[in-house]
Amino acid sequence: MAQQKAIAGFSKWSADEKLNWLKDTFGLPEPLVRDLQSHRHQDPDMQEMYEEFSENTVSNFFIPFGLAPNFLVNGKWYVVPMAIEESSVVAAASHAAKFWSAHGGFTAVVDDPVKVGQVHFIWTGAKAFIADLFSRTREALVAAMEPVTASMKKRGGGIKAIRLVDKTGEMENYYQLHVDFRTAEAMGANFINTVLEALAGKWKALVQEEAAAKNATGTLEINMAILSNYTPESLVKVSVETGVSALGIFDPDLSGKEFAEKFVRAVEIARADPYRAVTHNKGIFNGMDGVVIATGNDFRAVEACGHAYAARDGQYRGLSSASLHDDIFRFELEVPMSVGTVGGLTSGHPLARATLKILQEPTAAELMMIIGAAGLANNFSAVRSLITSGIQKGHMKMHLTNILRQLGATDAQKQAAVAYFMDKTVSYADVRKFISG
Ligand code: NDP
Repeated sequence: MAQQKAIAGFSKWSADEKLNWLKDTFGLPEPLVRDLQSHRHQDPDMQEMYEEFSENTVSNFFIPFGLAPNFLVNGKWYVVPMAIEESSVVAAASHAAKFWSAHGGFTAVVDDPVKVGQVHFIWTGAKAFIADLFSRTREALVAAMEPVTASMKKRGGGIKAIRLVDKTGEMENYYQLHVDFRTAEAMGANFINTVLEALAGKWKALVQEEAAAKNATGTLEINMAILSNYTPESLVKVSVETGVSALGIFDPDLSGKEFAEKFVRAVEIARADPYRAVTHNKGIFNGMDGVVIATGNDFRAVEACGHAYAARDGQYRGLSSASLHDDIFRFELEVPMSVGTVGGLTSGHPLARATLKILQEPTAAELMMIIGAAGLANNFSAVRSLITSGIQKGHMKMHLTNILRQLGATDAQKQAAVAYFMDKTVSYADVRKFISG
């Protein structure tokens, strides 16, 4: 069975009509249809709310919502909620957080979280014409945005700077209005896009009026007006630091200093080699994404921004750095992001609301620091494992639970398997063999 032609009006069908169509068209087995149905919220009002988040919703996709305790960030204790499906991530974050809490915790700073938006346009006339017009009307342009920026200005936000960028070297007749924003406690995508669309309209009108008045040749096409998810100035810097003697606990075969030296080399490898850097940064985003998702923030935006920053000098590099001077080990992460504690799903999703409550209602800047700390914690645990026991030991122990569930093990078999594999390498085949006796 398969779909034979395009279907019309799919979005208008009810969730059950969509499921029935799936069943008939793709031969979806009844138990899978029941799984999809059973993952809907038992409260119809709640389910309706989830269906409003996105389109063509037929069910909900659960991922675990866990807690990583013992995060000490700038002297304040946090229990950090993480929504993540990958085993070991919450355990790794918790383990690192507890270790560093005994060594001063995480120190974090956010300078000035500037957000960015651009109006991309094509101007076929003289460069000097728009350059002159822009310099004369820059302030009027910003003032004309007052109706859409007034309430954000009251919070200390709004348009921070605007400049005309000549991109004709890269593409014929291509220019930008590049705008810096402050968006207070919001991530700001909707606010920025609203302002940019108004700005684009005003700029086009100004250019057309001026061209008509001066009999200038040239046409202007607004190509698009959209925020940039690359916000390199909206930067959080998180660090941990300790004397090397504290690091002697991680491997019986390595002194604290040897551990620190090996750790620094591993981090330098991730800065030197893009293949390693991607996996290194994936480990950082294990921690960051878990918190970003739990707070209802846009993890695609945070990922895109972080990866672009990792490649800012033309080569993709690890986002963290480590150093060892005078027997002091320092490990830090520098990553830009745009997140909010109001707007988007932060108050719309009940678990995001719960997360922000558990995090003691942080400001957007504090949330950036917590997210950065989670990223650094996971990075520390991953590199620590890699340079000592290897990543698989811890990972496969956690994975054992997943394998046992997939094999349909009974509770007694699970208990026996956990005890049996305590000091053995876990593989799917070996677990199957153990279960089948
Ligand atoms: P919202 O528009 O939902 O919320 C932001 C608004 O909340 C502000 O504009 C402001 O409106 C109001 N507000 C109330 N209190 C505050 C405060 N203390 N600080 C700041 N604003 C406050 O969300 P965002 O604009 O933040 O957009 C985020 C959403 O946009 C995310 O869900 C994201 O997925 C989505 N998105 C992302 C895109 C991208 O990343 N490329 C593109 C498009 C959408 P007012 O001043 O009127 O009160």
